Amino acid sequence: MSLLKITGLQAQHGLLKAVRGIDLELNEGERIALIGPNGAGKTTLLRAIAGIHPVAAGQILFDGIDVTGISAYRRAAMGIALVPEGRRLFGSMTVTENLLVAMSARRAGPWNIDTVVDAFPQLKPKLKSVASSLSGGQQQAVAIARALMTNPRALLLDEVSLGLSPAAVQGVYDSLASVVAQRMALILVEQNLDQALSVADRLVCMLEGSVVAHGNKNEMTREEIMAHYFEYHPAGGSNHCGESA
Ligand code: ATP
Repeated sequence: MSLLKITGLQAQHGLLKAVRGIDLELNEGERIALIGPNGAGKTTLLRAIAGIHPVAAGQILFDGIDVTGISAYRRAAMGIALVPEGRRLFGSMTVTENLLVAMSARRAGPWNIDTVVDAFPQLKPKLKSVASSLSGGQQQAVAIARALMTNPRALLLDEVSLGLSPAAVQGVYDSLASVVAQRMALILVEQNLDQALSVADRLVCMLEGSVVAHGNKNEMTREEIMAHYFEYHPAGGSNHCGESA
């Protein structure tokens, strides 16, 4: 049974159909990179899975339980954690306080302040600093660490490298490697294709609210992937790289 099974999911912004009938499955320990151009609907899809954006139609099953109508807070307590685009930290609170905010939705598991600081060592000297005083890379580390503090079963990461320097991106991804090593299931939205490929087993390409291609990363050529970014399909190229998304 899939950990997460999404069927016919639709989500809107007013009259705009941002997610148009997506089917997607995420298995325990699997890592999916969700890629596509700006406006493809990736953020809206992650927010709908986390329960922050309303679902217009379709169903979300988590570990076999229908969570489509369940609040974001309860989904977090069940093991769905979102690291939102733009990080959304409490700027006037310290790093430790930002991490402790996650305690209310905490499940039993390996992640606590000590283990997240081990995974993101750049946070160790900053635990008493207010979040707004941190660099972009450090703030991103806090956002991921805060999500880990809930001990999620499915981690949803939205554009973790957005606005960061190349060195900061590398720092965040170096730390993510230790998270990935725990075989946590994750969906990663990432414009940096090299970083996405370094983490993911499977790629799902979105365009205008729909999945236009999917497959194991070893089954998709870089040219096919780039074609979906730029909405161009190479001669003889395939839109589908696997049996099911
Ligand atoms: P990006 O990489 O730019 O964040 P995305 O693939 O994550 O793109 P979404 O942010 O989900 O895409 O946007 C999907 C569509 O919904 C786009 O057409 C976008 O303009 C629209 N949209 C997103 N947020 C809002 C909003 N708050 N109000 C109205 N329309 C929105």
